[in-house]
Amino acid sequence: MTFSFALHLFFHLAVPAAVAWLFYRDQWQRATLLMLAGLLIDLDHLAATPIVDPDRCSVGYHFLHSYWLSAVYLVLAIIPATRLVGLGLVIHIVLDTGECIKQGNLILPQLSEFGAIHL
Ligand SMILES: [Zn+2]
Repeated sequence: MTFSFALHLFFHLAVPAAVAWLFYRDQWQRATLLMLAGLLIDLDHLAATPIVDPDRCSVGYHFLHSYWLSAVYLVLAIIPATRLVGLGLVIHIVLDTGECIKQGNLILPQLSEFGAIHL
């Protein structure tokens, strides 16, 4: 495991904890756990071969990291009842996107993915 990948994994834990501490201090433990639930979307890696590939961009590749589901995660972050889980998911996607940009292998969404345009 490279230092860069280890740092990426660390951010997946540290950023939700920091957001919980900064914005939900009165219930930071509960908020941290709910946001860490966003890690569960990495279960979609189990459908890929290899399961973990540090050089592969997850966003736009794995099902639970698809662009249209990312929009759903954003909506969950806006709705008060689902805000913490939604925030965790959005943080997860943003961190993964940052990793893809750093590696230069971000897969941009294709309009055909949304069924809108077929050229
Ligand atoms: Zn991920």
